[in-house]
Amino acid sequence: MDYSVVQQCMHCGMCLPTCPTYGLTNRERHGPRGRIALMRAIADKALPLEQAFGHEMDFCLGCLACQSACPADVDYAQLFEAARASVQEQSRRPWLIRAYRRLTLGWLFRSPRAMRAFGRVMERTQRWGLFEAVVASPLMGLVSKKWERLIGMTPTMERAFSHQLIAEVERPKGKTRYRVGMLTGCIQDIAYASINRATVDVLLENDCEVITPAVQSCCGSIHGHNGEVAWAKESARKTIDAFPIERLDAIISNAGGCGSHLRHYGRLLAQDSEYAERARQWDAKVRDIHEWLVDIDFRKPTASLPSQRVTYHESCHLCHGQRITSQPRTVLASIPGLEIVSLTESNVCCGSAGVYSITQPEASDALLKTKVQHLLDTDADVVATSNPGCDLQLKRGLDEAGSSMRVCAPVTLLAEAYRA
Ligand code: SF4
Ligand code: SF4
Repeated sequence: MDYSVVQQCMHCGMCLPTCPTYGLTNRERHGPRGRIALMRAIADKALPLEQAFGHEMDFCLGCLACQSACPADVDYAQLFEAARASVQEQSRRPWLIRAYRRLTLGWLFRSPRAMRAFGRVMERTQRWGLFEAVVASPLMGLVSKKWERLIGMTPTMERAFSHQLIAEVERPKGKTRYRVGMLTGCIQDIAYASINRATVDVLLENDCEVITPAVQSCCGSIHGHNGEVAWAKESARKTIDAFPIERLDAIISNAGGCGSHLRHYGRLLAQDSEYAERARQWDAKVRDIHEWLVDIDFRKPTASLPSQRVTYHESCHLCHGQRITSQPRTVLASIPGLEIVSLTESNVCCGSAGVYSITQPEASDALLKTKVQHLLDTDADVVATSNPGCDLQLKRGLDEAGSSMRVCAPVTLLAEAYRA
């Protein structure tokens, strides 16, 4: 942990009102100031690194709302990842959790081919109704509530994955103004491939040649957020290797959580003599899709979509991690036919936060309940959001509330408008 970052905290408490977990309990240790104080005490050897600290860091969403509010610019993202890495190194989790982490973080998320094979099996079992039958069967009584929840939250896989929808090189109809790389993600690759296709369509409409390597590694965000630094570094190296960085004007991410991590490969690989320089070049070219569209003064659609009310939920790692707040709204506002309605607390976490909804079900559900109420209050037909985790969480919450509000990405609506 970089001690100088911990020292930057001046204990002012400006971050407290923005912290969702502090809001849930009103306890100092459940807020950013308390967590930073614990980190400092452990670094000073005034406190041992115990399991209680691990639980505290597991309770933190990593949403980075505190970082946005902090007048001292404390890099909480860095502290959070370092703290989780220390916990992972020094504490021993129960064997079932270790086995699960090895299976998912250590294998599935490190092998794009395994992820696609898993996606294909899931897609078939979901399409044939087998998955639903298992979820509804007495077999579920044999697993714990947490596993039942995990199984129930499996996203619906798409029939075609990204490499089946997107060619490795796609060129615009007219003159090429830019050449960009397209990140397809891991879960996004199999469960949200149509968002990737929509992103490529939007880029082509804006005179971008799009390079999309057919096989891409997970960006490593999930490893970094869960304290698995070695795997995060390996994923970063593989991702860098997949793209011809020097030939690209930008590398496009369309998922808030991934984008936030992808911008910090330079820091992650700073001590890697082979990759440090390329990682710095990489960081300089990573762009969120909305940010890129606004930067290049994207073509505004002229055809109208059917009239509909649209609201916008901000992914934490897009608004707090990448400070991208106005651009997705600019994209939505450019689409004829949409009436944009504002969402109360649009930048407060929905409780998804990677695996948080599985590891901290009560806190996650409490945050989701508030989010869904705010969504219902808008009376919107559509909620736009740009992170697969948020998409999944909002769909679950709206479904449970009996709402038919559509959840989709801003870029999906823009692609629909271009096609209209
Ligand atoms: S990351 Fe989110 S949950 Fe964690 S301390 Fe900061 S505001 Fe609170
Ligand atoms: S706002 Fe920043 S400086 Fe103030 S207590 Fe929170 S983290 Fe520390």
